[in-house]
Amino acid sequence: MNNDFSRRVAAVTGATRGIGRAISLAFLEQGATVIGVYGSDQAAADRLRLESGFGEDVLRLKQCDVADYAAVSRLFAEIEVEFETIDILVNNAGIRRDGVVAMLKHDDWQRVLDVNLTGSYNMAKHAVLLMLKQKYGRIIFITSPMSRLGFAGQANYAASKAGQLGLMHALAKETARRKITVNCVSPGFIETDLITSLPPEQLVEYKKMVPMRRFGKPEEVAAAVCFLAGERAAYITDSVLEVTGGI
Ligand code: NDP
Repeated sequence: MNNDFSRRVAAVTGATRGIGRAISLAFLEQGATVIGVYGSDQAAADRLRLESGFGEDVLRLKQCDVADYAAVSRLFAEIEVEFETIDILVNNAGIRRDGVVAMLKHDDWQRVLDVNLTGSYNMAKHAVLLMLKQKYGRIIFITSPMSRLGFAGQANYAASKAGQLGLMHALAKETARRKITVNCVSPGFIETDLITSLPPEQLVEYKKMVPMRRFGKPEEVAAAVCFLAGERAAYITDSVLEVTGGI
């Protein structure tokens, strides 16, 4: 069942590739206006514009490093001028820079925390100020089962994803009385650049871990996000929806 997002403005980070691209397209197809935030890949942004067929009126693409608080403040200043407010925020932008802790460079620890966790705070903080005023909002963090599994070599990534859960728990309680819901979607192994760049033998091992014996599709994650962003999920807050094929 589709949602009617025709009066809704949704900001999606990491909107131009992988899961974020599928989420943006799903919102657009259900009538939303989308502010699509991307990091540095201008070609991917251009491809989304061209391939989706959605124009500037409903798909506004904006370059912004979510880890940079000042840049996020400037982004929201623009959003307020152009849209007044937003109704939905999906904190999807994420990176991984793997390495076992003993060998992990401090920069790689810090950058993953900065983008995945601090980026989520930077966006949520600005969004929630607008949502509190209008007494309505949907905030969704894209976390990961790594937050509880913690594979060797992914301490920075696992910590950042576990941190998003803590952020969700507190923010959900702070906003619940204003009709703002705060939830997480936790995808398993999803076919995007983030995992297809891994060595083939590692992908074979990962697939064996999935009870359904297949990787998920970005569109399957987008469907869960759209559900939580819709009117029918009004009584769901502070929860994690797993889209993992059973992991
Ligand atoms: P991709 O690598 O395919 O895409 C990442 C997106 O994030 C890109 O649009 C990228 O933009 C954007 N991005 C990266 N850094 C920044 C930044 N500093 N500021 C703004 N945007 C940024 O990743 P996925 O689609 O696979 O992952 C999306 C989310 O889902 C992530 O949070 C990831 O941790 C999570 N996830 C993914 C899983 C998977 O199996 N794929 C499993 C579990 C969770 P640009 O290219 O312009 O830099």
